[in-house]
Amino acid sequence: MPPQNPQNPINPGSDKESWQKHSSENQKQYKQFLQRADKNNVLKQLPRLHNEAFAKIDCLQCGNCCKNYSPRFKTTDIKRISKNLKMKEGDFIETYLLLDTDGDYVAKSAPCPFLGTDNYCSIYEHRPGDCARYPYTNEDVFLKRPQLTLKNSTVCPIANYVLEKLIASK
Ligand code: SF4
Ligand code: SF4
Repeated sequence: MPPQNPQNPINPGSDKESWQKHSSENQKQYKQFLQRADKNNVLKQLPRLHNEAFAKIDCLQCGNCCKNYSPRFKTTDIKRISKNLKMKEGDFIETYLLLDTDGDYVAKSAPCPFLGTDNYCSIYEHRPGDCARYPYTNEDVFLKRPQLTLKNSTVCPIANYVLEKLIASK
């Protein structure tokens, strides 16, 4: 989960069904856009659209990413988080993580064990790099990994917002 800003105005949960339905129905159009997009033009627009989306959509009213997917816990993440939790790295791994089929450590359970019922992340300042970067709307991964962006456009209203705005500005 990226920066948390309780002051943000839009509650994605209130309009969840409509944007997700719209996203599912438009996956083909999204895919074509991502395949054919002018890379430089998109990269130029991303910082503004990323900030705009985060100003409009409140992650604390959503939490979809943390509820449904695990970030990778890389070695540096594990060291930082376990130190912060005052746990031995081995104990941290044993308690919270497992190796996935790609050989990455991921959370044993979903929702993420660090997600509170209020959608706050209990290790927010030390969260994995993947969480800080999600949904990759301010980096070239957005175009470089179209399958990931397509998936994120059905999970994350921020990714969906950025994609829609890019398509509208073509
Ligand atoms: S899915 Fe997107 S909008 Fe929802 S909490 Fe995660 S980053 Fe925020
Ligand atoms: S570590 Fe925090 S930000 Fe990352 S998935 Fe878990 S609850 Fe979400």
